[in-house]
Amino acid sequence: MFRFPFILYSLYFVFSSTALAGQSCDSTKVRLQMLGTGGPELLDDNRASTSYLLWLDNKARILIDTGPGSVQNFKRSKARFQDIDVILYSHFHVDHSADLAAYIKGAFFTDRSRELLIYGPSGENFIASAEQFTDRLFNAKTGVYPYLSPFIRSDAQSSYKIITHNLQWSYKNRDIQTVIKNRNYSVKNVAVHHGPFPAFAWRIEAYGCILSFSGDMSGRLQTITDLIKDSDIFVAHNAIPEDAIGVPQLLHMKPSYIGKIAREGNVKKMLLTHMMERTINRQDDTLEQIRKNYAGPVIFPEDLDSFQP
Ligand SMILES: [Zn+2]
Repeated sequence: MFRFPFILYSLYFVFSSTALAGQSCDSTKVRLQMLGTGGPELLDDNRASTSYLLWLDNKARILIDTGPGSVQNFKRSKARFQDIDVILYSHFHVDHSADLAAYIKGAFFTDRSRELLIYGPSGENFIASAEQFTDRLFNAKTGVYPYLSPFIRSDAQSSYKIITHNLQWSYKNRDIQTVIKNRNYSVKNVAVHHGPFPAFAWRIEAYGCILSFSGDMSGRLQTITDLIKDSDIFVAHNAIPEDAIGVPQLLHMKPSYIGKIAREGNVKKMLLTHMMERTINRQDDTLEQIRKNYAGPVIFPEDLDSFQP
């Protein structure tokens, strides 16, 4: 009889480690590639503007933003556009969105035959919503590229359709929303503060791994910590230095704040991107500020670098 507790303990150990194994990150199945680590400036920095490509099980499945120049890195990545399920937009500033038309024209020459989903925030007077963005590019009468309108028109012949969804952005709604949940991954977002511009941070969970993306944000809505909770990789935008003043600090996070949320969110590894002239040569200062709050790995990636959780 005295062996009974030992057997129970062994069974508990077997069951609990099985349960944990079901949740642990299978990093062999997940790879995040940088298609654009730069900002909006016209710098000789060898960086496209913001864009990230998520590979799942060796297929390129999710694009996050399509900043200018990133389509060239997509080509270099050897990804196939027909494998992309969805494009997630943080917001519709030029440095996050300008290459969409290049992808859509390029996709004409692929064998893509299934819907392409696009999600992004609702708009304001001075910035387009997701639906306005694709409509104003491709509308048959009023679009910039009316010859590509069959990709958004249900009554026209085309090899595939673009299905665009606005996700309501509001200062008042600070809840995390689940946007996609399928067999292979889930996608969530939350409203963030980027001055007056509707913007989202994103979280993707796949094969037990968690990846999150701040997008451009100042932190004033205080919504990011829950979204990035326990991320294996957190991509944070390092667009301003610690001593920034004026408008830039109403739009972006200071390094000390990035360190604070990384610690509070229990982030396992952090990538700093959206480099600008004011931050690109100050990586030591940035790291020093982050280290006041966060002790985990911090990496300044270059375009085309890949990371596994
Ligand atoms: Zn930006």
